[in-house]
Amino acid sequence: MTGKVKLNNGIEMPMEGFGVFQIPEEDCEEVVRNAISEGYRLIDTASSYQNEEAVGRAIRSCGVPREELFITTKAYIQQMGYENTKAAFEESLGKLGLEYLDLYLVHMPFGDYYGSWRAMEELYREGKIRAIGVCNFYPDRLLDLCYNVEIKPQINQIERHPHYQRKEDLELMDELGVQAQAWAPFAEGLKGMFDEPVLKKIAEKYGKTPAQIILRWNVQQGVIVIPKSVHRERMRENINIWDFELDEADMMRVAGLDKDCPSMLDTRKISEVRRVYDYLNNPVLTSL
Ligand code: NAP
Repeated sequence: MTGKVKLNNGIEMPMEGFGVFQIPEEDCEEVVRNAISEGYRLIDTASSYQNEEAVGRAIRSCGVPREELFITTKAYIQQMGYENTKAAFEESLGKLGLEYLDLYLVHMPFGDYYGSWRAMEELYREGKIRAIGVCNFYPDRLLDLCYNVEIKPQINQIERHPHYQRKEDLELMDELGVQAQAWAPFAEGLKGMFDEPVLKKIAEKYGKTPAQIILRWNVQQGVIVIPKSVHRERMRENINIWDFELDEADMMRVAGLDKDCPSMLDTRKISEVRRVYDYLNNPVLTSL
């Protein structure tokens, strides 16, 4: 059983969940069912992952009551704008086969996300979504959004791992009451994440693995994690972080790994903005 956190609207959410980015539709139903039977209750998908239908089948066949699950999906750039997001929400809900969503997120800080936000606020008030939020919003955009909307985001889902710790960004979220959620908590293993000697040494001390240290380090700072794995033993490993605590000195050692640079996505870079829009124009040739 994972820890839980209360969002700024009083809704409780699991502190650890399961991400399904890059899991093909044909594998995803079984993978998600396995994750649920390993104890995950929060499932994180997106319309752009093209596996919402498989996630929906897993939800229906897993044997766990709907109200015990916490289901997130996201609206992508071409779904931004008031009308588009209203339609995108119905499409995602239909694919998932659900009557309500637990969390609906703006996927990227691009396009008419203010229009989308108004649509999401309405859907939230109608009781069709329990919490609303954003992804990949750097402090400037997050603060601006908070100044201009009636319902502040409950969540900001951001790239966050030992190589990109974002202390100041987290401080602002804290001040605004926006809960941080870490995507790619392992940076997908890039830049030698799992082989960091500091992580290996700490892992040995607690009888855990580097992956478990990374996840534990996040949740101890109040950051929700959504690791992805298609392997059952890794799903089990990744959720087995709720029976130990890193001491202050080890938390500081992990803090020392910060490179203050994203490993995956920097939405402030012109080349990244182009890449994201190129993907929209030709999803077969580029991958996000
Ligand atoms: P991640 O969770 O950091 O890393 C996943 C990779 O690590 C996979 O290659 C997986 O391999 C491997 N792995 C998992 N557990 C492991 C372990 N214990 N030991 C060794 N290797 C392990 O990356 P991610 O999938 O990109 O991010 C997690 C979730 O965040 C996504 O699935 C998605 O839901 C969300 N996300 C959101 C955004 C956004 O813009 N909002 C962007 C990216 C991701 P195997 O699968 O082969 O085990």
